[in-house]
Amino acid sequence: MSDMNAAPSDWLARLEELLGPDRVRRDAASRSVYECDAYSVERSQPTAIAFPNSTEEVASIVQLCEREGVPYVARGAGTGLSGGAMPALGGVVISTKRMNRILAIDPVDRYAHVECGVPNATVSAHAAEHGLMFAPDPSSQSVSTIGGNIAENSGGPHTLKYGVTAQHLLQVRAVVSSGEVLTFGSLVPGGPGSDMVALFLGSEGTLGIATEAWLRLVKIPLEVATTLVSFRTVGDATASVSEIVARGVLPAAMELMDHFVLEAVSQAFDVPLQPGTAAALLVECEGDVGEAAQEMALVLETCAAHGAFHFEVAKSEKERARLWIARKKGIGAMGRLAPTIVTHDGVIPRSRLAEVLETVYAVARESGLGVANIFHAGDGNLHPCFYFDEREAGAVERAVEAGERILARCVELGGSVTGEHGIGVEKLRPLKLMFNAADLRLQSDVRGAFEPSVLCNPCKVIPDQKGCVEHRSRWRGAAT
Ligand SMILES: Cc1cc2nc3c(=O)[nH]c(=O)nc-3n(C[C@H](O)[C@H](O)[C@H](O)COP(=O)(O)OP(=O)(O)OC[C@H]3O[C@@H](n4cnc5c(N)ncnc54)[C@H](O)[C@@H]3O)c2cc1C
Repeated sequence: MSDMNAAPSDWLARLEELLGPDRVRRDAASRSVYECDAYSVERSQPTAIAFPNSTEEVASIVQLCEREGVPYVARGAGTGLSGGAMPALGGVVISTKRMNRILAIDPVDRYAHVECGVPNATVSAHAAEHGLMFAPDPSSQSVSTIGGNIAENSGGPHTLKYGVTAQHLLQVRAVVSSGEVLTFGSLVPGGPGSDMVALFLGSEGTLGIATEAWLRLVKIPLEVATTLVSFRTVGDATASVSEIVARGVLPAAMELMDHFVLEAVSQAFDVPLQPGTAAALLVECEGDVGEAAQEMALVLETCAAHGAFHFEVAKSEKERARLWIARKKGIGAMGRLAPTIVTHDGVIPRSRLAEVLETVYAVARESGLGVANIFHAGDGNLHPCFYFDEREAGAVERAVEAGERILARCVELGGSVTGEHGIGVEKLRPLKLMFNAADLRLQSDVRGAFEPSVLCNPCKVIPDQKGCVEHRSRWRGAAT
């Protein structure tokens, strides 16, 4: 591997020749912007940031890096929550920012063909004129890119009904380590051989760089009913979630926000907090004419039976958008609680939500950290958000340890260490709770088949990679 700290070398000069100096940045300010993603507790500066315009340019950059032994990592909007786009060993960040074109919307075969730097919400905005939408809707959707969504197999509030990105990706074009451009998948169902789209999805930028995608579009529902329901205990809210699904109702979204999130949101935005609220459920039902109202009636009846004491029903699109603020802007509003937020991501069976939330509050108390919960309750996908001041000695370590204790409990209860935020660097240790040495060796071999040199996003997803000890000791040293 090249010495990343050496004086400007031949490879940097060649990178500038490839793209022109305007599309390669290596000034101190830019390098510090790209040193982390939204998981800001681990950082490492790149040597340079490259802004290609096309698949061909991405391929040329990858060929150069592989030839010169320079690590590289793809980056979309940098909203990842597990350190995936952080350049652990320096090298080149390949930003897809300029590759943001919608190439085609096909309303007959119902797909969108896009470049991978396109923000998620832009796809639905373009498809809407045909009565169609791209269903996966991460709460970061106004900025997070299709490339990032594919790499993390992202979900969102509407995953309960529509599934995650995996259910909506038909075909993907990617540059692999040889610099070759491959297209996985097909626009028609079936096809010979193993499902390569499934292998590439969720690989967190370690198997190659996605440059174009063909995305399934679905019909925009004719009717939508949205209600914010307030409860006096978190247990009443979680019990309602389990029973709604057990009764055979499948809302499009069922999101839980606890008191701490609601308090932050009510201070930041025009969303009043009902006095005495310990938790609120944002429930959305949708379907053809009459269906949404029918489902919502059952939802409200179930919530009332579990002690819900206030129901705010959206009567217009404007009111619906206002109720969604509590969910979509919740993590942002938490910026008011403390300077540093670390959002964890674990999954458990829905029926165990109340139990795990008790663990979450207890762990936070014992660790001396604040915690607020905002999550996809219908999927059992928890997001405890620890808030603290990273300048306080030992606070980062306590937040990391607290998160790992919660994930261990999720695994004990038959769940997973991640629902949608990925492994990145954050969850390398907890991953070992789910996979034994043989599992991890096989995963490492698969990666090796794509990229024997391990220059493409090194130190991510597979624990104990060679050469990564240096990164971990460096950031831990910096954090204390
Ligand atoms: C406020 C907030 C709310 C969020 N809500 C959700 C949510 O509801 N659901 C959810 O799933 N996630 C959520 N996230 C996490 C994050 O937004 C998603 O993981 C998102 O898909 C990341 O997209 P990005 O463009 O920001 O990717 P980045 O952060 O830039 O990168 C993420 C990973 O993808 C890789 N990558 C990026 N582009 C490519 C590419 N073209 N080819 C190959 N690899 C690539 C990177 O190397 C990295 O490993 C949230 C984050 C924030 C900050």
